[in-house]
Parts: sequence; C-alpha cells; structure tokens
Amino acid sequence: MTEPNHGIVLGGGWAGMLAAHVLARHLERVTVVERDVLPDGPRHRKGSPQGRHVHVLWSSGARIVDTLLPGLTGQLVDAGARRVGFHQDLVTLTSHGWQHRFPPRQFALMCTRPFLDWKVRDRVLATGRITVRQRAEILDLTGDARRVTGVRVRDMDRGVPRTLEAGLVVDASGRGSRLGHWLSALGLPPLEEDTVDAGIAYATRVYQAPPGAAAGFPAVNVAADHRLREPGRFGVVYPQEDGTWMVTLSCTRGAGLPTHDDDFLPYARTLRHPLVADLIALAEPLTSVAVSRVGANRRLYPERLDSWPEGLLVVGDALAAFNPIYGHGMSSAARAAAALDTELERSGVGDGTARRAQRAISAAVDDPWIMAASKDVEYVNCRINARDPRLTGGALARQRFSDLIADRSIRSPAVCDVVTDVISLTAPQSELASSRFLSLMRKDRVLPQLTEPPLTPDELALVRLNPRSTVGAGGS
Ligand SMILES: Cc1cc2nc3c(=O)[nH]c(=O)nc-3n(C[C@H](O)[C@H](O)[C@H](O)COP(=O)(O)OP(=O)(O)OC[C@H]3O[C@@H](n4cnc5c(N)ncnc54)[C@H](O)[C@@H]3O)c2cc1C
Repeated sequence: MTEPNHGIVLGGGWAGMLAAHVLARHLERVTVVERDVLPDGPRHRKGSPQGRHVHVLWSSGARIVDTLLPGLTGQLVDAGARRVGFHQDLVTLTSHGWQHRFPPRQFALMCTRPFLDWKVRDRVLATGRITVRQRAEILDLTGDARRVTGVRVRDMDRGVPRTLEAGLVVDASGRGSRLGHWLSALGLPPLEEDTVDAGIAYATRVYQAPPGAAAGFPAVNVAADHRLREPGRFGVVYPQEDGTWMVTLSCTRGAGLPTHDDDFLPYARTLRHPLVADLIALAEPLTSVAVSRVGANRRLYPERLDSWPEGLLVVGDALAAFNPIYGHGMSSAARAAAALDTELERSGVGDGTARRAQRAISAAVDDPWIMAASKDVEYVNCRINARDPRLTGGALARQRFSDLIADRSIRSPAVCDVVTDVISLTAPQSELASSRFLSLMRKDRVLPQLTEPPLTPDELALVRLNPRSTVGAGGS
C-alpha cells in the first residue's frame, strides 16, 4: 500500500458523499469514483432513478447530517424544504385507522431528492479535500483476501483503466454494487445475504399544489391494511420545496401499478380512502408518471466473514437496502457515517480498523432492517430468502403484538411518542419491548377512533374540498 492516507469512496450518491465527508476528517485526501456527471444544481441523473419519487429524511438522519454539516437542515428549510412534524403536520390513514394529529415529537424533511443531494454535495465538496472522478466506472478491487489496497477504474470517455491506491476503500455504489463479485475475485467466500421482497413498486407524478396548499396543507398518507391478506396499495401527497406536491402511488406484489398518465387518478381512487384522489383531481399535473420497481429489503452480513480484509468497508444501499415506504435508507446511511466517524476518531486507520468499523456500521443498519423486513413478511406474495431468526420464528405472536401497538399508537399520545421515536430511528427498536413502554400500553389514555381524515376547516378550504367529500371507506 503506497497511499495509506488516501481514502476512496465508490459511488457519489447519498451514502458516498457522507462517507467521503467523514473520511476527509481523518485522512489527507479522498477520491470519490462516480459513473455519472454530478449536476451542479437540483437536477435528475441516471445513477439516481429513485430521485423521481417521494423521499423523506427522518429527524434522526437530519440530526446526524446537521452534526456532520452544521446548519444544513436550516439551509434546506430556508430554501423551501418542508419540516413536517409527526403527527401534527400529517394526515395518515394507517392499517388500523386514522392517526390522531398529536403534537410533534419527531419530524421529517420533505423535498425533492435532486435538491437534497445537491445541497449536501455542495457542502461536502466545499471543504476542498475531496476529488470527484466523474464518468469513471469501478472495475474491481486490488489487493488480496487479507488487504484491499485500491481500486481499478475505467475512464468512460477515454476507455482507459487505471489503478488508484488507498488505505481505505468504501463501497457506496448502491443496490447494484458488485461487491460479492469483487470479493470473490480476491479469493474471499460469498457474503451471507438475506432478502425480503414484498414486490414494492412506485409510480409518481408531480402536481402544482393549489395556492397556499404546499405550505399550509398537511402531508397526506394513505396506507394499505396488511391484515386483509390481499396485495396492498398506498398513496402519499407530500409537499416539496418548490410549491409542488409529489404524489406517489405504490403497491405490493400483485396489486398492479399505473404506468400511464390516464391510469394515475383512477388508481388513486382504488386506495382505502379517496383523499389522495380528491386532492390530485383538483391539482394540475406537471409531469408524466415515473415508475420504479426496486423496493426489496436486502442485507449483506460482511461482519460474519471469518476474515474481513483490511482497508475495505461497505455502506449505504450496497450494505442494506430497505422497502422505501419506511423512509429509512438515507437515515440508515447517515447512521453508518456517524459510526465510521466514531471508529476513526477512536482508533484512526490501522490494523483492524476496517473490521471494527464494519461491525459498527452493520449494527447501525440492524434496526431499520428488522423494522422493514418484519413488517414486509406480513404482506401476501412476499418472497423471503432469509436466515434472520427474527423473521422465521414466532410470526403470529409478533404480528399480534405489532397490531396491538399500531392500534394503540394512533389513539394514545404517549404510546404514539415512543412509536414515533422508534420509527424515526431516534430510539432503538428494543424500546418497544421495555417495561416502560408495556406499562404505557396499559395505562395511557386512549382517544376515540377517528372516522374521517382529521383535517381542519381552514385546511379543507385551502384545497377547496368540502368536509363530506373526505368521508370515505377505511376509517376504521
Ligand atoms: C423509490 C425509492 C424511494 C425511496 N424513498 C426514500 C425515503 O423516503 N427516505 C429514505 O431515507 N430513503 C429512501 N429511499 C432509499 C434511498 O434512496 C437510498 O437509501 C439512498 O439513496 C442510498 O444511497 P446510496 O448512496 O447507498 O446509493 P445510491 O443513491 O444508489 O448511489 C450509488 C451511486 O453509485 C454510483 N455507481 C453505481 N455503480 C457504479 C459503478 N460501477 N461505477 C461508478 N459509480 C457507480 C451511482 O451512479 C450512484 O451515484 C428510496 C429508494 C427508492 C428506490
């Protein structure tokens, strides 16, 4: 290894940029290898197709990003991103009924993905210690089974392969990562892998929100009910930084999906409540339908290899990707970046660093993994290829308990607070098994079930809906 103080990050997406920022705090220089040209504004790019669909950044992820890049979330909000308080600023039909709009405990940032990525990238690259090699494709890793010493990349314009050497290489190349192939070429055995695939697909259109509604109308979320044992359909209307509504309709395997503009509104009418359809019927569509079918939960277990090579880490979707409906991917990558920072702070880059850091990073993805995977196994047609014992045993008891929590959380403020902490990845999932929480489940006051969306007269006036049109099926 000739460049111990050089770090290389494979992939310049969300996880790659956060990892590069962390490496730049501990190493002399950092290179990001990226296939795309990264736009210098809020524009879509080929390597980030998910950018055409709704994204929320949960408060836990936003707080980490703010620690790494102080003041960033304030800048995002000043530039138009909506800070949506859960559950004050959100109207949600959960599987168990309408959620009461309790005072906010956590929040999520809502804005377009190209805008968010651009703002983060701009701040990360402003430090001047990170070089981005754009239009460069990763070919393979160099080194051997004991130590990764760099990466071979191909300049996509000139077609010339070149080796870059480094003390630390971080794979952040997303769901399509070829890590398994690269490790096998170094003589390492296959990584253990779990997949839980409910067949999630997304269809999205952007609408011009009625005047005042992008800022003054709550975000809307209508979910499927997994207890019906039929393919699920979901719909959300989320405000964006530019005064638009992004509307995503999604489904589990077997529920079909609108792929043409003319099918979008009729599909929205098939959700458990007509609110999403009523809102978009009034709004002007600005884009055609964009479709994405990449929504399986998939996790690698690099920490279980008997011998993990020095100098290599894997983060972001390349390590663990989740059903996007839970909105955990970016916060999970932020947790991984924070774990890496802590490990490098503690022991610098030396023997054993990669193994210790990878263990910490893998621990950081465990809660979002089990939350998404254990929920998705409940959907009909879900394809499961997993050895995680938490997914294969005691399914009925687990489902009953999670249904009980879901039912209580929409009507009990203190229970809702704890559940929101867990869902936002602010508190550990284990909190839901604590004696404090079990006692809250018994003792907290339970409000009556809502029979229609909890919208105020002022909010209804903003979108010119009359209260009766919001009364529909599925309120209980
Ligand atoms: C439809 C959808 C909706 C989502 N909604 C949410 C949400 O609401 N909230 C949330 O937190 N998360 C959400 N996610 C997940 C989130 O998008 C990802 O977790 C996040 O983008 C992961 O970032 P990443 O950097 O690991 O991967 P990516 O964003 O995929 O970045 C990988 C990068 O590597 C580059 N690359 C790949 N291969 C190569 C190669 N061979 N050579 C060079 N470069 C390469 C790509 O061009 C890309 O820039 C959603 C995902 C989807 C699909």
